[in-house]
Amino acid sequence: MTASRGPTAAATRIDIFTVFPQLISNFASESLLGRAQEHGLLEVNAVDLRSETTDRHRTIDAPPFGGGAGMVLMPEPVFAAVEATDAPRPLLLMSPSGRRFDQTFANELAETGGFSMLCGRYEGVDERIASDLCDEAVSIGDYVLSGGEVAALAILEAVARLVPGVMGNDESAGDESFMTGLLEYPHYTRPADFRGLEAPDVLRSGDHERVDRWRRAQALARTQERRPDLIELRGGLTDADRALLAEFDLG
Ligand code: SAH
Repeated sequence: MTASRGPTAAATRIDIFTVFPQLISNFASESLLGRAQEHGLLEVNAVDLRSETTDRHRTIDAPPFGGGAGMVLMPEPVFAAVEATDAPRPLLLMSPSGRRFDQTFANELAETGGFSMLCGRYEGVDERIASDLCDEAVSIGDYVLSGGEVAALAILEAVARLVPGVMGNDESAGDESFMTGLLEYPHYTRPADFRGLEAPDVLRSGDHERVDRWRRAQALARTQERRPDLIELRGGLTDADRALLAEFDLG
């Protein structure tokens, strides 16, 4: 079933400020994001950080005060590029020092109805861009990328699939890893026997209640094994959880 939105529902607008606008618009024109834009559910604007520069070289970076390696994005052209637009707020700065992006953060952003992201490059951005232009800094993990574009695209994908109507089947977003505080159960499809590797019988039994219990048991067992921190976050296993694991010999 495809969720329908009224003809007046505004698209979720996401503006991305970058030195490489083509990289963003190419990515956003394909697959789910491309379709969501065609259907007017989503509007992705890639804005060139050089757009308001006036010098011949369209300069946006300079060496850091105090010395050291690399170049830093200057406040002047970056403030100007943002101020020349009506980019939706909050404006998020991509930064390894930011708040860690996760499913909860994605849900929050999906609720905003529109927001923007600013991608750093080189050594990063002048601190005044962080403190006086952007609203919050976001990190996609404890590693350093060469630019904020991949981080912005990861956030774009995670949020876009939460926008009503984008997934086509509204139910599929709710079942997935992290949505329930658990990792997702394993999936199987045709054939039932692949090179002697069999799909679990229960999934083809037609007993939907048992299928649901099996899936939940699998999600619990998998989370307990791979991400015990997530089980702890939920306050540990309940008696019902333990009974479910025992029912499928997963305890
Ligand atoms: N010198 C900086 C890293 C600069 S990397 C530091 O040590 O913190 C260049 C740009 O890539 C950053 O400005 C940021 O926009 C982006 N970036 C790198 N790693 C990132 C991460 N884990 N999450 C989000 N953005 C990241």
